[in-house]
Amino acid sequence: MFSLANRVALITGGSQGIGRSIAEVFSAAGAVSVITDIVQDIGEEAVTAIQDSGGKAAFYHCDVTDSVSVENLITEIVKEHSRIDILVNNAGITKDGLIMRMKEDQWDDVIRINLKGAFNCIKAVTRPMMKQKSGSIVNVSSVIGVMGNAGQANYAASKAGLIGLTKSAAKELAARNIRVNAIAPGFIRTRMTDALPEDVKQGYLDSIPLKKLGEPEDVAKLIKFLVSDEAGYITGQVINIDGGLIM
Ligand code: NAP
Repeated sequence: MFSLANRVALITGGSQGIGRSIAEVFSAAGAVSVITDIVQDIGEEAVTAIQDSGGKAAFYHCDVTDSVSVENLITEIVKEHSRIDILVNNAGITKDGLIMRMKEDQWDDVIRINLKGAFNCIKAVTRPMMKQKSGSIVNVSSVIGVMGNAGQANYAASKAGLIGLTKSAAKELAARNIRVNAIAPGFIRTRMTDALPEDVKQGYLDSIPLKKLGEPEDVAKLIKFLVSDEAGYITGQVINIDGGLIM
């Protein structure tokens, strides 16, 4: 079940946090995990760890906001592996602040990385996936994109934008057997949530019915299902993974 044997998967922002877990889970299921990120040494360390445990992985330096680099990356992957089966748009940042104090570059940076970065990657994989007549794309959105959050207007807008992008791409690409879905994680234990003040974290915990933060592997396992053949009839959906936060 959920085998990804011989699939070639690109995971953006895959060096650490949720992205790294996705790469580990994919490789354990038989895929070649191609990790891309902006910091070389952490990415290479992630690849070495996967290879040491018997999996296949590679690292490419790429900033998802640079459309030319993204195009070159996809060309390189297809040259090396003859195909690209899976894209997970995971790279993302936060630059929080209340709207009245938010600087223009806080807004622009978050939209550029979280939303335009995903667009760049989807655009670049579209041609090879259409040629193959198969592919699966997962965009990592957030519960914040569904419900909003004070102090995160930029992040919420980028993650809500990803949901619109997901549904539009799913409609455009379905005829070529390319599925596009989004997931909306709640609060997952990574450095993104480690950075939250304790009282804010406790407030979130109080509002989560399962009374715990999620682990990166919980998210990775959902994505493994979504890109597998077992999810072959699912496209254009947003799946919450949040301990019951949104019902
Ligand atoms: P993380 O540990 O900070 O991972 C994000 C990764 O994206 C980092 O490796 C980062 O690289 C990379 N990245 C940033 N800018 C990039 C760029 N321009 N090009 C390529 N890669 C870039 O955060 P995480 O918690 O695992 O989050 C992963 C995804 O899940 C994000 O999209 C986030 O919004 C989403 N999410 C997280 C949570 C949560 O609770 N953690 C909840 C909902 C959604 P550097 O380290 O070098 O900056």
